[in-house]
Amino acid sequence: MRASLGGKHVSGAERLVGEPLLQETVLELLRRPTSFDQMVLTVEKVEEVSLIEASLPISSRTFESVADARGFALKLLTDSGVPPRTAERGLRLLAEGAGPGGSVMRGAVLMDVETAGRLEEDPQRGVRTVRVDWKNRRAIERTLRERGMTSRTVDALALATKNILCGVVAELCWSDDPDYTTGYVASGKVGYVRIDPLKERGDPKGGRIYFIRKQDLPTLVECLEKRAFLIESLPD
Ligand code: AMP
Repeated sequence: MRASLGGKHVSGAERLVGEPLLQETVLELLRRPTSFDQMVLTVEKVEEVSLIEASLPISSRTFESVADARGFALKLLTDSGVPPRTAERGLRLLAEGAGPGGSVMRGAVLMDVETAGRLEEDPQRGVRTVRVDWKNRRAIERTLRERGMTSRTVDALALATKNILCGVVAELCWSDDPDYTTGYVASGKVGYVRIDPLKERGDPKGGRIYFIRKQDLPTLVECLEKRAFLIESLPD
């Protein structure tokens, strides 16, 4: 589902469910944006779904300043195998707006870990991770809410788990929502690490950087955009 108001994107979500849940899910998505004047809802049959036993493990860190939080993100990225120069460029790019003219992109930047060069075909759209969901979304939502997190984390954790499984070396994200300052670094090495504040309140810039190995590009994009995954649980 994607919805807009006055030509501006306001809400988007994706679900992977069994046929008996179809009607209820369409209604849930229809009610999701608080206001919109256009909505596109696509329903598609998926033939093959792979199971992922457990998501990346979650941890959270809070800092006094954006500078300290970004310094920690830089450390996690380098610990994950991203050279410092590449990690620094990624952080700078998100801070400045990675789309044309400093705009916010619809999808993610693909950044070559070795050269820090950009590999996505369309710098406005970027690459979008789709076709991933939780086998039992409600239960996961309940558990994460009990641990002080929101549905944002439910979606972002699923997305990051698929990214790492598809071969992304590490991911850096913070939202373009001016009121939401918690971002994350994810990798197979460090897990899913929530970091606050990765930007100042009121800042409308945000996005995602997928640090990848150039030789993985074709298989990785195919996996992110085409393969369907259901995640079964949170790790113990
Ligand atoms: P959000 O976490 O929804 O605020 O999204 C933050 C940024 O991540 C957006 O501005 C996009 O650049 C990017 N993004 C959002 N959804 C996806 C997706 N499904 N795949 C890749 N990048 C995305």
